[in-house]
Amino acid sequence: MDITYPPEAEAYRAGIRAFLTDNLPADWAGMGALHGEEREEFRRAWRRILADNDLLAPSWPKEYGGGGLSHIEQVVLAEELARAGAPEGFENDSLGIKLLGNTLIVFGTEEQKSHFLPRILSGEHVWCQGYSEPEAGSDLAGMRTRAVLDGDHWVLNGQKTWTSSGTDANRMFVIARTDPGAPKHKGLSFLLLPMEQPGVEVRPIVNAAGYDAFNEVFFTDARLPKENVVGEVNGGWLVANTLLGFERGVRVTTDAIRYAGELELLTQLARERGLTKDSHIRAKLSWCHSRVQLIRYRGYRALTSFMQGARPGPDGAISKLVWSEYFQRYTELAVEILGPDALAPSGDGNGAVLVVPESGTENSSRRWVDAMLYARAATIYGGSVQIQRNIIGEQLLGLPKEPRLDSGPFEEIGRLRTA
Ligand SMILES: Cc1cc2nc3c(=O)[nH]c(=O)nc-3n(C[C@H](O)[C@H](O)[C@H](O)COP(=O)(O)OP(=O)(O)OC[C@H]3O[C@@H](n4cnc5c(N)ncnc54)[C@H](O)[C@@H]3O)c2cc1C
Repeated sequence: MDITYPPEAEAYRAGIRAFLTDNLPADWAGMGALHGEEREEFRRAWRRILADNDLLAPSWPKEYGGGGLSHIEQVVLAEELARAGAPEGFENDSLGIKLLGNTLIVFGTEEQKSHFLPRILSGEHVWCQGYSEPEAGSDLAGMRTRAVLDGDHWVLNGQKTWTSSGTDANRMFVIARTDPGAPKHKGLSFLLLPMEQPGVEVRPIVNAAGYDAFNEVFFTDARLPKENVVGEVNGGWLVANTLLGFERGVRVTTDAIRYAGELELLTQLARERGLTKDSHIRAKLSWCHSRVQLIRYRGYRALTSFMQGARPGPDGAISKLVWSEYFQRYTELAVEILGPDALAPSGDGNGAVLVVPESGTENSSRRWVDAMLYARAATIYGGSVQIQRNIIGEQLLGLPKEPRLDSGPFEEIGRLRTA
């Protein structure tokens, strides 16, 4: 593991720091310090600045409007944005640019790339992810949504669930079953669906923190053009998994920066409440500190192996496990520090931000309670901790694999609801 960056990366960092100094407002305190319309206006203007400087889609090749940056330059850029508390784009850009865009660059036809990539960059197409279904989240290949070819269109019937940003999006990348007679991983296709049409119904679900952050989506004879299949028909499992590989991407090192900022605020909260001399609270804050260091070193380890040419592999399961459980533990500690105040939280919340609250967010009781409630989901989304433990057990420790009873044709497994 290497914890120093090469001189070229440090030179790139100096350039990005200068860019941030030149382009962020002089009194910049972080996205969390902005509210309402002011916040949205800044985000729109900032996205434009990033796009004009080829920093909006840093990993895409230049020919598609990206930054063409090396892996380490992308990490440095993400680190500096995180450190400055400046966004990488719209919240949805992680789905459109990082997940779908990068996948289209690998698997898309030239027509697909030239049609979709500019529209992702301009913000005309806003994407959501249609993977999970009732009874098929962890067991992703168990999905039952069907797509049947009818002339020049695929016709989609079924249901997705836990669709983040479903009400904001006008496009969805969907995995659907196109050959129920094939084994369950082999009869799936990856499809690009326009959502603004009859037959697509989005129903918001309110989460524990009170935000309608995700949705159920129902398809009744929804249609998409035949050529909107990415990769091979019935070869969608490979495409879907490649996209999941992009999900973690450069966050390996930026996680530690965000969590270190959070820990500073948490320590400040303990200080404000006169609890930094309490041995129980001190021990817990020390544990948090060691965990943030662990996340940091795991980030460097992953970065070193990416730079040596490795692709994201099962090792990422350890990082997912560590940060998602840490997210829950330190927000629970915040609630412990708040004591009875956590029962009647006050002040500004985390502005419905769905991950770690953005820097500059007020150190209020409401913000910590929001974060604690949202952290419940961290051990579920992006792959639950139980599944990460299975991956670690089976793929890293060589423990016996779970018995499989579902290797035959999917329709014979008895779970498919045929139309
Ligand atoms: C906030 C949030 C946002 C999300 N956003 C999206 C989105 O935008 N798009 C999308 O497609 N999905 C999204 N998801 C869905 C998410 O990916 C799934 O919830 C997740 O994969 C788990 O699937 P499940 O909910 O169906 O649980 P299940 O698969 O039903 O699992 C229930 C429990 O059983 C455990 N379990 C299941 N199988 C095993 C096994 N073999 N061994 C051990 N334990 C097992 C699981 O780990 C879990 O604890 C989101 C989820 C959340 C919470």
